[in-house]
Parts: sequence; structure tokens; C-alpha cells
Amino acid sequence: MTTDTNLVINGNWQAASDGGTYSAINPARPTEVLGQVAAGTSNDVDAAFAAARSAAPAWAALTYHERAAHFDKVIEVLTADKAHVDERIALLTAENGKVLREATMEISRLGDRFTQVAGYADRLATDEELAGPPFDTIVTREPYGVALLITPWNWPLAILGSKLPHALMAGNTVVIKPSEYAALSTALTIKLIAEALPPGVVNMVTGDGVVIGDSLTTHPEVDKISYTGSGPIGQHIMRMASNRLTPVTLELGGNDAGVMLADAEIAPETFMKLHMSGFITSGQVCMAMKRLYVHESRFDEVVDGLRAFEDNQVVGDGAVDGTTMGPVIHDKQYQHVNGLVADARANGANVMELGSVPDQELFDNGYFVRPTLVVDADNDLAIVQQEQFGPVMPIVRFSTDDEGIAMANNSPYGLASSVWSADGDHGLSVARRLEAGTTYLNAHGPASQDARAPFGGWKMSGFGVVHGFEGVRGFQRHHTITAPAGTFFS
Ligand code: NAD
Repeated sequence: MTTDTNLVINGNWQAASDGGTYSAINPARPTEVLGQVAAGTSNDVDAAFAAARSAAPAWAALTYHERAAHFDKVIEVLTADKAHVDERIALLTAENGKVLREATMEISRLGDRFTQVAGYADRLATDEELAGPPFDTIVTREPYGVALLITPWNWPLAILGSKLPHALMAGNTVVIKPSEYAALSTALTIKLIAEALPPGVVNMVTGDGVVIGDSLTTHPEVDKISYTGSGPIGQHIMRMASNRLTPVTLELGGNDAGVMLADAEIAPETFMKLHMSGFITSGQVCMAMKRLYVHESRFDEVVDGLRAFEDNQVVGDGAVDGTTMGPVIHDKQYQHVNGLVADARANGANVMELGSVPDQELFDNGYFVRPTLVVDADNDLAIVQQEQFGPVMPIVRFSTDDEGIAMANNSPYGLASSVWSADGDHGLSVARRLEAGTTYLNAHGPASQDARAPFGGWKMSGFGVVHGFEGVRGFQRHHTITAPAGTFFS
């Protein structure tokens, strides 16, 4: 059975204006077509923005509590039909490759983000008041109008959840551009959300970013762009947005460092945590650990434990019981990760390809990469310096805190990082010195993300934030209303 998806424009589930579609495939079995995705055109982009613009004044005129009340319906439809939830979970696993347990977590948590953001209504409704003399000033926050949300394929619904409720709660209507990959489960989910809200509040155009990207980002009706994806596309979007000075939030790639200090607690569960840090979604997570620096006194202990843990992974189809690691998303990613591993090997690194492969024929024909450690890697190797976005962990030794911190910070990226120490004060003092938007202590990655806190990168990992209260504020602009003292406040 295959699943076909349409666009969402003004509350309608409709085909692309020229009827165009493209095939969604299963990265575990690249010859398996899962369905057809509507390939939107620039006419569809125009129609989506027209709908969002026309719905914007009424949506912006609602109070925060009224918008929160609309969210109740969204939360309900996301879980109401159990069979449909299961269909979306199965589709996400099939089109992304991630194991079912992870797809279940991702699909089932989207409603939580709406609940969380609805809870900010009181706080959002409170203006900042600056009483005089010399002035009485009120600082209010207003929506931008129409926001464009561009999302990637790796955690397509979790990332939607980091910005869609926030954009809507802030008072914007939206046009969503999901990734070409993992579009089926995203499109079906957005359809549900859009139907639970007034027509035109949520619109979606699927299709090839290269074909319709510029018509989205340069559209005269776009007031704010929130983009999550790769750095080069983010830079391109920023250039496009500069034409109309459209404000952008850029959530880009990273090369997160973990710093395991001499006083780290290394227990059996540490290796599960390290696995969750670097290997879930086959390492294709923006805030995954992508290089691990270990104090020389703990180096062998960490390598031996992680090696044993990764060797227990079962690589295969994420939909099959017992599989713990699925494929990477597509051939380009497969070539990129394997190229970095081959380069490390050619440069004399100790490469350990681990895990078991129950179905060798499947493995040989899909985009599978075994969990891989690159031990005692030279810090200058490409596999250490570049974002691999695959199930590969280079492990580098250091001898002092200063050296570990310097190695971690010596990167053009600054998305997230982690410190591993049994001593909270010591860990915190090192965490404060790391150049990243987020630092985890004794953990790393999406399972440890506090969605109440802002999330965003430093340096080439972007700017602006998603998630939390600050994530709502990112979809608003301030309006300062000032008067002589005594006008507003006594
Ligand atoms: P990508 O850049 O290929 O695509 C991201 C989105 O941009 C897709 O929806 C795509 O269709 C769209 N796009 C492509 N060209 C466009 C254009 N010219 N104009 C407008 N939109 C265009 O990224 P990807 O491969 O989907 O995601 C992987 C990358 O994303 C990694 O680098 C990863 O680290 C990063 N990422 C970052 C975060 C974060 O929060 N910082 C989260 C997830 C992924």
C-alpha cells in the first residue's frame, strides 16, 4: 500500500497546480516507493501566501488565550485517531529510516509542544511597563504577520514542534515548507493541524527546495523566516532574505563536542548515554555529539565501554523488531559519511566498524552505515572537524581541562556541547567556557533537551532561537509606546 500527499492551502488538501509529484522512497530499500508527494510550484507558493495573508488579521486579533483555546482542538486531533497515529509513525520510520520507537516518540510528542506553548498565554499577555518620570512607556509585542517555516528531514515533526506552536501563539499565520525527504508523515500531520484551525492559518507547500525555495524566501508576503537545515542553504536563504530585509532565524548544523573530564563518573549507563548522545537517528541529529574528547586518564575505559555498547547495536530496517539502528537518509549522506571514514582510515586512524547486520542483502542495498568509532583520532582529521551527520564518533584524548576546552571550542560551529563530570561545580565551570548555545552535563542530544529553554546556535550554527518562551518571542517584534510621565501610570 502506498500513501500520496497533497498541499495544504487555505484549509484545502489539494494537488500541485500542475499536478506534479515526486516519489518518496525508503532508505532501507531504495527501490521501494512509499508514495507520491505533491511537488508544489511557484503558483502554489503564491496561493499559500495569499491564504496566510488573508487569514492573518483575524488570527492576530485574537487574544493569546483565544489562540490557546484553538490549540486544544489541535492537541485533540493529533491523537484522536489511534490508527492514523500508527500510520504516521510507520510512515516516518519507512521514509526516514529511524527505528519505530524513535518515530513513536517523535509523533506522540508534537501535541505536548502545543500544550506547553498554550501555557505561556498569561505571560505573553503581559506588556512591559516602564513608569516615569521622565516617560511612561509600554513595550508590547506584535506578530510579524506571515511566517515561513522551513524544516529538515531528520526530526521533521519534533522540529516542526519547536517552531509551529510558537509562530502561531505569537499571532502569525504560517506557510510551512517541509523537507523533500520524510514529507509523507509531515504532510499528513500538518493536514490535521490545519483542519483544526481557521482556514489559511496553517498552509503547507511540499516540493523541491531548489525549485521553489527562492519563490518562498523572496515572496513579497513573507514577513519572517524560520529555517532549520544545513549551513550552505541557510546562508543562501539569508542572502535571499536580504532583498526585503526579511528577518531570519537560522538553526543550522553543528559539530558538537563532548568533553569527558578526568573526574567523570563512568558506569554501565554512561555508555547508553553516550550512545543516545551520538548515535540515535544513526547520528543524524543537529545537536548530537559528533566528536568526543576524553581525558587521557579515562581514555581506554571509555573506548572499551563504548566499543562494547556499539557492538551490540543491530543495524537494519527500523520497522523490524530488534533493529536498534536504521539507515542514513539518502545516497548523498551515505557517500559523505563513508567518505569521511575512508579519509580517516587513509590517514592512519584506528577505525572500528561495529554492530551486527542480520540481513546482509538488505544492508548491501540500503543506505546503511555501521556504528563506527575512530579511536585516538588526530584532531585535524576531516572526520573530527566536519559535521558527519552519521553514526560515527571520533574520540580524541586530552591532558588538561584547558586543552580539552580549547579543542572543543576550536570549531567554526557552536550549536551544542557537553561536559561529563561527577562534580557538578567542576562540570559547570567547564560548561561556562564552552562556545555553544546549549551545553548538557552528563548527557547530550535530543533526549536531554529541555524544551522550556531557548535553543539556538552560535557562530556558523546560526542565530536566533526556537523552543520555549523565547521561541515565541522570536516570532514577534516589539512596539514601544511612550508618553510623558503620568499619561499611563499614576
Ligand atoms: P537542507 O538544507 O538540505 O534542507 C533543509 C530545508 O531547506 C528543506 O526543507 C529543503 O527543502 C529546504 N531548502 C533547500 N533549498 C532551499 C532554498 N534554496 N530555499 C529555501 N529552502 C530550501 O538540510 P537537511 O539535509 O534537510 O538537514 C540536515 C542539516 O540540517 C544538517 O546540517 C543539520 O545539522 C541541520 N539541522 C539543524 C538543526 C538545528 O536545530 N540547528 C536541526 C536539524 C537539522
